[in-house]
Amino acid sequence: MPEGHTIHRLATRHRELFAGHPVRLASPQGRFASGAALLDGRVLRDTEAYGKHLLHHYEGDRTLHVHLGLYGKFTEGEPPLPEPVGQVRMRMIGPAHWLDLRGPTACEVLEPPAVEALRARLGADPLRDDADPARSHTRIRSSTKPLFALLLDQSIVAGCGLIYANEVLFRAGLSPLTPGTAIDREGWTALWDDLRALMKEGVARGRIDTVHTQHTPEAMRRAPRVDRHGGEVYVYRRFGQPCLVCGTDVARGPLAGRNLYWCPVCQK
Ligand SMILES: [Zn+2]
Repeated sequence: MPEGHTIHRLATRHRELFAGHPVRLASPQGRFASGAALLDGRVLRDTEAYGKHLLHHYEGDRTLHVHLGLYGKFTEGEPPLPEPVGQVRMRMIGPAHWLDLRGPTACEVLEPPAVEALRARLGADPLRDDADPARSHTRIRSSTKPLFALLLDQSIVAGCGLIYANEVLFRAGLSPLTPGTAIDREGWTALWDDLRALMKEGVARGRIDTVHTQHTPEAMRRAPRVDRHGGEVYVYRRFGQPCLVCGTDVARGPLAGRNLYWCPVCQK
């Protein structure tokens, strides 16, 4: 599933391409036909990402809400418009670009109270300037659940996904099983700052890299990682491979229904 940095990149891209103009909206597949009809011809005022949620704000206080989920994907291009291929839930046409959306978990039109309700159920998003990490900490320190699960809880930290959760814990040298109650304010501030920096880099690069300079392929004279998610990481999907810091085999186990990876030595 795309993590928050991808959604923030999409929000920026869609703002550049479409904001300030009336746009045409349709649902070639038909499942979003009534929603598209509500927005068709309106001016897109602005776009916004909140965690893994993408919001397109239209004139007249209507908001398009998209959650890509596991399979959702945007494609875009310049005219001429291609024939819709596959299940195109939404097609958006602006002054000089078109945008297709396939396979999202959510694609719906919200009115202001529903947008507020969505914001209210999301935790602090490290990529937003209005994020309040103290609110996240209040939730974390009152929970005995493992930190790994708390970081993935979107009502605590919005936008943090599997890769960032695994990697930020490695970088902090924390066991993923550390209970939330063990994280004091200093510990949380350090984790939050690191997560924020990593995610900002993810927005800038369009991929997730989490290794320090001394552990890059160039510095270690090793082959770059080959993985469909791309970036250089310490533990995510490196099960059985040597830890880049201590050489111990990276461990893997299910936790809260998600794949947890960690170094048993670096993260005692
Ligand atoms: Zn290690």
